[in-house]
Amino acid sequence: MLHRLIEEFHTVNWSLDIAERYRELMDDEEHHSDESDVPIYWKEDREPTIDKLVDEVVEMLENYRGKDYNRDANVILSESKFMLKVGRNVFSGTVDQIRQNDNGEFTLLDFKSSKFPPNQTFLDVDYQFGLYSLACWKGVFKLPDGTMKMLEIPPDKLRIVYYHLRDHIPYKRNGKGFQAGDERGDPRKFTSRTRDQLKVLKRDVGAIASNINRGVFPRNPGTINCPACAYSAICIGDSRIDGLSAHQIKSIETLNLPMEEAA
Ligand code: SF4
Repeated sequence: MLHRLIEEFHTVNWSLDIAERYRELMDDEEHHSDESDVPIYWKEDREPTIDKLVDEVVEMLENYRGKDYNRDANVILSESKFMLKVGRNVFSGTVDQIRQNDNGEFTLLDFKSSKFPPNQTFLDVDYQFGLYSLACWKGVFKLPDGTMKMLEIPPDKLRIVYYHLRDHIPYKRNGKGFQAGDERGDPRKFTSRTRDQLKVLKRDVGAIASNINRGVFPRNPGTINCPACAYSAICIGDSRIDGLSAHQIKSIETLNLPMEEAA
């Protein structure tokens, strides 16, 4: 819904009433969403929770609109679907926003509303951003008129921004180095990819896709993802290895080698 509002700022009405439109979208989502496997659960007394959510959204998006670098942006694509062929595999996804800058270069923005932004190392190695960069160069994007088009933006002409929307929510109290009412800093966390990095990415994702096609999903434990993981109960112990054939286990061993080399 946040993405939809940002898209509407740039394509329909920059000054739209955020709270009113957000409540409309929430209502649509609740009653008409086709994502039946992702229901929205509310506590019994839902109004205070919704009011708090709406207040946060208004703060984030009012301050988004307050920035010259957003208001003056030349947005060329919003919520645009893409397809990208890497070896024998086809990847698809949706890019939140692409802007063309005054110098002819481009910026791809990925809007996030999670509590904490990742660190710079994560941004520099994350597969999602690597695939976005490759898609802007070699993939095809769906344009608003429904046609598909290659953007042919080489990686050295593309900056990628992890846009941490929560940095627009002002501090509620004074603290060390900040006052109540201050925003939390620049929400734009920058990264980019080089041509060499994209070469390595292709080998990496090819190896991962081969694993997936064989039904092999190596664990990816982490202090942030595991505590919040809905699958942790079935991930523990040897249970998954028990479910694999000798052939699949052999595949893991042979595929891990190229993955390590690629890394
Ligand atoms: S517990 Fe979840 S997040 Fe952690 S490794 Fe297993 S599947 Fe991945």
